[in-house]
Amino acid sequence: MKAISTADLIKWRRYIHENAELSFKEENTSKYVEDILKGLGNIEIIKPAKTSIIGILKGAKPGKAVAFRADMDALPIKEETGLSFASKDENVSHACGHDAHTAMLLATATTLSKMKDQINGTVYFIFQHAEEQAPGGAIDIVKSGVLKNIEAFFGMHVLPNFPVGHVGILPTGAASTTSDEFTLSIIGKGSHGSMPHLGIDPIVIGAEIVNALQTIVSRNVVPGEMTVVTIGKFQSGNANNVIADKAELGATIRTTSDATRKLVESRIKTIVENLTKAHGATYELNYVHNYPAVQNDSALNIMVKKSAATAVGQANVFDAPMMTASEDFSYYNQVAPQCFLTLGVGNGVANHNPKFNIDEKALQNGVKTEVQIILDFLNR
Ligand SMILES: [Zn+2]
Ligand SMILES: [Zn+2]
Repeated sequence: MKAISTADLIKWRRYIHENAELSFKEENTSKYVEDILKGLGNIEIIKPAKTSIIGILKGAKPGKAVAFRADMDALPIKEETGLSFASKDENVSHACGHDAHTAMLLATATTLSKMKDQINGTVYFIFQHAEEQAPGGAIDIVKSGVLKNIEAFFGMHVLPNFPVGHVGILPTGAASTTSDEFTLSIIGKGSHGSMPHLGIDPIVIGAEIVNALQTIVSRNVVPGEMTVVTIGKFQSGNANNVIADKAELGATIRTTSDATRKLVESRIKTIVENLTKAHGATYELNYVHNYPAVQNDSALNIMVKKSAATAVGQANVFDAPMMTASEDFSYYNQVAPQCFLTLGVGNGVANHNPKFNIDEKALQNGVKTEVQIILDFLNR
């Protein structure tokens, strides 16, 4: 396989980095991608959403359909990398490395477009908008119906805490967590601090709720199944001798399966409803579903591990732990089996940090891995 030139890969990555755009606003980036795909001469282009682009490469021989996905959006973060090609928009930057994802998939498309004669089947290159902002761009593309023939979805994320150019194989099953949250207002009745019998104290009720929520993980969830219920906010009252009329709570919830996700939500609702009722208070609960968990298919995971070893050498492939972040790549699982993997780009500064940057030496390994995965799936 002849990989794309490193010069092109870096040029594309730096252009996208310098012209970072927020979720749902990737107009310039998607146009840039479209122009490069058009220049290849044998890629059909469709636009399933305003700022998403899918390039479709039909191989010379019939076969399966496979998709590789890159996300293109940046974050509302002021960049502090000091790079010569830092984002021109000082309020927006590629602090999650989606510039690298886009450049690598462009290189993969370029490489495979030159191998059209050797390809059995069809390749979809999904350049997706809005991964960073719920409800996420992936769900728009799934709903558009353009993916219905695809038999497998692959995606890759750059991570700074692994060695440069090393490909991380995520666990089979949950490869990332679900991410939900809620805000809760407990509405009691204000009173003088010395006359509690005339009030309904939302702080006491809130304290009971916080304690009761701890039993979801300890008493309801199957032991050992990773689940988090964190109350990150509890605000009420502003005087020592006043019973407040209201308390505000906020929480984040992480799980790794749909069943546990539903169980946790149901338990939270039951606890809130019954404890507030027991004390004569009322409440307003706003429960928000963010992304489901990415579910790595076991057969695809086995294949990807071999593909990565073929592409970059066994020594550069390792078993990575589950990602604790959530990813809207999970939505593609509604269409077909999926597999997500990681690429080490490491200077150790976390994704979403203003100083996040990638080591560009990792990019070629990413491209080689993507190309090999696509070919192996179609030849399987
Ligand atoms: Zn991110
Ligand atoms: Zn990301």
